[in-house]
Amino acid sequence: TPVIRVKNLYKIYQVGTNKVYALNGVDFTMYKGEFCAIVGPSGSGKSTLLNMLAGLEKPTKGEIIIAGKHMERMDENQLVQFRRENVGFIFQSYNLLKTLNAVENVALPLSFRGVPKKIRNAKAEEYLKLVGLEKQMKHMANAMSGGQQQRVGIARALVVNPKIIFADEPTGNLDSKTTMEVLKLMQRIVREQQQTLVMVTHDNYIAGFADRQFHIVDGKILKIEEKKKETEEA
Ligand code: ADP
Ligand code: ADP
Repeated sequence: TPVIRVKNLYKIYQVGTNKVYALNGVDFTMYKGEFCAIVGPSGSGKSTLLNMLAGLEKPTKGEIIIAGKHMERMDENQLVQFRRENVGFIFQSYNLLKTLNAVENVALPLSFRGVPKKIRNAKAEEYLKLVGLEKQMKHMANAMSGGQQQRVGIARALVVNPKIIFADEPTGNLDSKTTMEVLKLMQRIVREQQQTLVMVTHDNYIAGFADRQFHIVDGKILKIEEKKKETEEA
């Protein structure tokens, strides 16, 4: 099932008298249950593309259809509502509240949505178990390792059961061993929860963990590459 469809997408910035084509005619489809990587060098348009997909910026031209709805036709209120219902975010620097424990951090998005405390804590615990943190539920975020903090970040993104998860350089602050663990966790979750995970990275090795890699250069998708089998089994 298609979840994200992008058609003839352009983002053009006017810089002085010059036009910068941050996105220069992008077309693709991403499906339910897919782990997709948008990979390219610095300045290639990754952040711009992610911001468009998340409805944080408007395209200059083109269409973004997510779960059947045209993002480019939504106003700001509709976009906020759309994100609340459909999207989870995983950040490079985790963005946890440092003086809250793991359960409280994961429960936060449910709190914003008015879910009662008992229910949101139970949900938070369920997702912390899913990411392998059953023993760290009451640990303060600032007392956890980077890998543990990112697991909390992943649980927080999942707790609202979004259709789509956006991850911006999610392993950018992790050592190589922890990076592998987090990438394998994301592979497993996509398979189990059948969400669509869109990860942005500049690193080809990290992108190799995705089911499909969307290679972006100068605002264009140059090729879409399927995963080689051995990366997953390794
Ligand atoms: P990446 O995330 O791959 O590093 P970006 O999406 O940040 O790339 O940037 C793509 C191109 O668009 C770059 O040339 C960048 O300088 C330009 N760009 C991004 N944002 C703006 C902006 N707000 N104003 C002008 N140019 C921008
Ligand atoms: P809430 O938790 O209040 O329900 P939403 O679910 O509406 O918030 O959406 C998450 C919010 O987080 C977005 O509205 C946006 O402002 C912010 N956000 C998420 N990811 C990014 C990002 N990559 N860059 C900037 N802001 C972001």
